Amino acid sequence: MIELSVAIKNKAYANSKQTVLAQLDFTVKSGEFVAIIGPSGCGKSTLLNMISGLETCSGQHISYNESANTEGNTNKDALQQLGYIFQQPRLMPWLTVRENIELILQADQFDKIDDLLAQVGLANEGDYFPSQLSGGMQRRVSIARAFAINPQLLLLDEPFNSLDAPTAARLRQLLMDLCKQRSTTVVFVTHDLQEAVYLADRIIFLSDSPSRIIHQSVIDLPRP
Ligand code: ADP
Ligand code: ADP
Repeated sequence: MIELSVAIKNKAYANSKQTVLAQLDFTVKSGEFVAIIGPSGCGKSTLLNMISGLETCSGQHISYNESANTEGNTNKDALQQLGYIFQQPRLMPWLTVRENIELILQADQFDKIDDLLAQVGLANEGDYFPSQLSGGMQRRVSIARAFAINPQLLLLDEPFNSLDAPTAARLRQLLMDLCKQRSTTVVFVTHDLQEAVYLADRIIFLSDSPSRIIHQSVIDLPRP
């Protein structure tokens, strides 16, 4: 169980100098599903990259506090329990579905791949190559891959973009089930308010760049 806290004073990219994120300060409770919503280009992907350590800036403070027995756990340990699902599935095209998941696991964990593939509805597609799958199926592989490490903290960057509506709806439900079963702490980035309301416990609204938090809403809806 991971609680995330984020404090970013000023993030600019070296080649542009323009501030992308400013005075961004929030925490995500353990097991909470937070959606971050904001206009295109406001810095949502940058924020996830900073949470995952792919991007940094001076004066940032990002910590992953494990809520139970915290002793001895460092940020580095927490990063090993982090899953990141990108806008594009980013599968290795020369590897089969199963091999794409094996890539991030130790050999003694390979026996859980069948279960994972079954959970995302791909029990029979393990030996297919990504190019043999539909867009929706490729996303499902990327979801299975992210859950293979049993992430305590999951970052998602508009994972349902450019999918047709029924496919996106099925995948949203799948994602919500997987996260609730495991009490995963989630930061979900989207520009789709309806999607945010459907999935999240809380929504953080960002302004246009330089991004600041302009509003936060707790969503208290009965869940399916
Ligand atoms: P969003 O995910 O909300 O669409 P991004 O985080 O991708 O926004 O981008 C925020 C701003 O930072 C945009 O103006 C974008 O052009 C700029 N940006 C993103 N990545 C880089 C980079 N590697 N170098 C320079 N500028 C970047
Ligand atoms: P698309 O080809 O439009 O991208 P999908 O790849 O999402 O659609 O779905 C392909 C097939 O898999 C459909 O017949 C769909 O009903 C089925 N399917 C989708 N999600 C699941 C799931 N979680 N479990 C089982 N079957 C699924």
